[in-house]
Amino acid sequence: MSKAGGNLNLTPSHPCPYSYVDRYETITQGIFTTVPMVSEENLIERVRKKFPVSGRQLRVGIGDDAAVLRPQRGEWVITTDAFLEGIHFLRTAQPPGSIGYKGLARATSDLAAMGATPRYFLMSLALPSNCAGKWLDDFLNGMAGAARRFGLVLAGGDTTKNSSILVNLTVLGQCGPGRAILRSGAWPGDAICVSGKLGESELGLRLIQKRLAGKKQWKHLLQKQFYPEPRLELGQWLAKGRRATAMIDTSDGLSTDLGHLCKSSDVGAEIWADRIPLVGMPPELRRLGLDPLEMALHGGEDYELLFTVSQKSGDRLPRRIKGVPIHIIGRITRKKSVLLIPERGTARRLTPGGWDPFRMASAGRR
Ligand SMILES: [Mg+2]
Repeated sequence: MSKAGGNLNLTPSHPCPYSYVDRYETITQGIFTTVPMVSEENLIERVRKKFPVSGRQLRVGIGDDAAVLRPQRGEWVITTDAFLEGIHFLRTAQPPGSIGYKGLARATSDLAAMGATPRYFLMSLALPSNCAGKWLDDFLNGMAGAARRFGLVLAGGDTTKNSSILVNLTVLGQCGPGRAILRSGAWPGDAICVSGKLGESELGLRLIQKRLAGKKQWKHLLQKQFYPEPRLELGQWLAKGRRATAMIDTSDGLSTDLGHLCKSSDVGAEIWADRIPLVGMPPELRRLGLDPLEMALHGGEDYELLFTVSQKSGDRLPRRIKGVPIHIIGRITRKKSVLLIPERGTARRLTPGGWDPFRMASAGRR
């Protein structure tokens, strides 16, 4: 954590980006805006109020130069995640509460994918001044709700001003010694499993793009796009019993994330198209020409868990674990390609077609 730019662990630093720049803009433009003057101190206080500080291992939280954690048994699992306006979300298309919630859910899903239990998080936040009022309160309320839900305590962070919204979240979790499930442990013959349904978040995104998101009848279809649910309990269950050989969360899409898992494990895979749990498509939306299989293969942001278990464990695997449906969708192969086996017809190579920020067609796709 840098000391510059308003660390949440700090008493306010210099320069104070909100009060200084807002005043400067007001003077140079010669107008008095209706945007409230926000000082960094005020902003930090508002953040602090939304996130109660607690936790046995957190000796010093918000209010000093840095947080102090008291290590206990087990291992720390640490991940960081950038959530940027125009790249990962559109301010105009998404409620601020959901941006706060989803930012933390995305980062926490990486802990679920390791089988870890969430403990603490750090937030770096850069905002335009016109977002420092109600928008920020709603954003923080959404994030505080996610923190309570996932068991996370805010341990510190950093705030500054920027022309667009930048959120960076570092999340710390714990797991038993040697229990974290890595991407690299899959073996030929292992069963490939996935939780929940795939393509649901992509359907929500398509509705937003087609300007159908405002329709009340489709509101429920936006749930996974706006409020995804990291599969924490499932991940922990798999890790505690050493039940999974490898695991990843489906943040970028099945085709891409399975590719990551296979590459790390130095194996290939075959996926049975008719076994993939597909997003349900209301008949009224069929006219949009959306293909549920394509959305399940390449649509990202479902934050489901994609994991492998030994063939023997696969035969005994419950259909639901911790309330989440589990499907076996294929198996790991020695041959290093990833194949999609259709119900009829010939197998085809499944190339990664999911989310990749460096390949994206336009800003705000996700
Ligand atoms: Mg991940």
